[in-house]
Amino acid sequence: MTSTPAATGAAPATAADEAAEGARLHGPVTDWFDEHARDLPWRRPEAGAWGVMVSEFMLQQTPVSRVLPVYEQWLARWPRPADLAAEPPGEAVRAWGRLGYPRRALRLHAAASAIQERHGGDVPREHAQLLALPGVGEYTAAAVASFAYGQRHAVLDTNVRRVFARAVAGRQYPPNATTAAERKLARALLPEDEPTAAKWAAATMELGALVCTARGPECVRCPISAQCAWRLAGSPAHDGPPRRGQTYAGTDRQVRGKLLAVLREAVGPVPQAVLDAVWDEPVQRARALDGLVADGLVEPLAGGLYRLPLGRSAS
Ligand code: SF4
Repeated sequence: MTSTPAATGAAPATAADEAAEGARLHGPVTDWFDEHARDLPWRRPEAGAWGVMVSEFMLQQTPVSRVLPVYEQWLARWPRPADLAAEPPGEAVRAWGRLGYPRRALRLHAAASAIQERHGGDVPREHAQLLALPGVGEYTAAAVASFAYGQRHAVLDTNVRRVFARAVAGRQYPPNATTAAERKLARALLPEDEPTAAKWAAATMELGALVCTARGPECVRCPISAQCAWRLAGSPAHDGPPRRGQTYAGTDRQVRGKLLAVLREAVGPVPQAVLDAVWDEPVQRARALDGLVADGLVEPLAGGLYRLPLGRSAS
């Protein structure tokens, strides 16, 4: 009997090996997904393509538990792209709340405006048209095309990259930034038919989120533990470059968050003195405020006043 790369714990060597490896993983992973997928609002049919797009913007750097309440409020207030596009971008920043990385709110607003102008208010189906929207990168275009429209695309987020690194490449963690080799592997692993490919994309993501997690993979309840190259190789420790940490306390990000929180809560423009009260260190505070203004998240007014932006968001 010929042993497969995964059965020996070795990474697949050729594209044919990768495709064969994918075929062995598809059934167990999608069957597991059928049984264990979380019932999330953006996965329900009524979410539509706009709901999927909103969720993808929010989920990129924020966990599901924090996204859920903001997502529900967002869709209740702005059920269509046109509803969001009709409001000032500052309202998107306000509604973004504490999800973090608030430039995503401006980008989502700009995408909604472009959808209204270029596509009559409907989220486009074509990957290239999605990719042409402001704030939509390769990942989001593939995710919306796959999850909303059931198309065949490699959807490569942090969770999927980790599953592929372990199960197929035999490494504990993927590289810090997505590589061409990872994209190639993800394409090779895609099931041929569209519905299965779309389910595979969602299922691998869910497996990484629930079972094959960054800190503690639960291999005993993993549907592909018998094929996992990393596990079969004895779960070797990470030997690549140090992994990037996510420090927050004391960073400019924290100061920006505090400044924005004041502006979100305010009903009108806020005086500089009120903003000065959020952080003791004046140089860092000024740098954070300048950064928010430069990013279009805050609008300076005459007389030392500041507010969330009323103008058109950048596209
Ligand atoms: S067996 Fe363990 S390491 Fe391998 S894919 Fe499953 S959870 Fe991840």
